Amino acid sequence: MANPDCIFCKIIAGEVPSLKLYEDDRVFPMMDINPFDDGHCLVITKAHAENLLNADPDDLAAVLPAAQKICRAVEAALEPEGVNVVQANGPAAGQTVYHFHTHIFPRRRDDGAMLNWAIHRATWGGSKRSTTRSWLSCNGPRYVPERWRHRLL
Ligand code: 5GP
Ligand code: ZN
Repeated sequence: MANPDCIFCKIIAGEVPSLKLYEDDRVFPMMDINPFDDGHCLVITKAHAENLLNADPDDLAAVLPAAQKICRAVEAALEPEGVNVVQANGPAAGQTVYHFHTHIFPRRRDDGAMLNWAIHRATWGGSKRSTTRSWLSCNGPRYVPERWRHRLL
């Protein structure tokens, strides 16, 4: 159901203009109003959900094929050196619009997008992880996420 206070719901309803790429039953891909670079698009779900945590899985299942379609078009048209598909949930993750969406944006090596995990906060129980092998052989078994893995089963 649409949320009357949601800008993306208003766009889907045609109450706010947008540069729509196309639409189907579940998704509404459009250009981002404040693009990082040429070709920066959003795939938004037609149904209102705050983010990944409460979106309908059937809507989510429609998002990645739409992202693939757009990535292929962007790739052919703009010939980037890469394409990111990025999605934020919650303020610390950078979410500013609370209606599910994923970003698609072409990348160049020198484009300066701040998308990296160069600062590692995980301590792996005190010892710094140096290589995947050392993590698996030494630290791995102790740090399997027992506190939440059972919720996946
Ligand atoms: P977030 O920060 O939540 O991951 O991304 C929200 C994105 O929505 C931003 O990149 C912002 O530029 C875009 N955005 C915000 N308002 C509008 C709008 O009214 N129309 C469109 N097309 N994009 C919007
Ligand atoms: Zn909405």
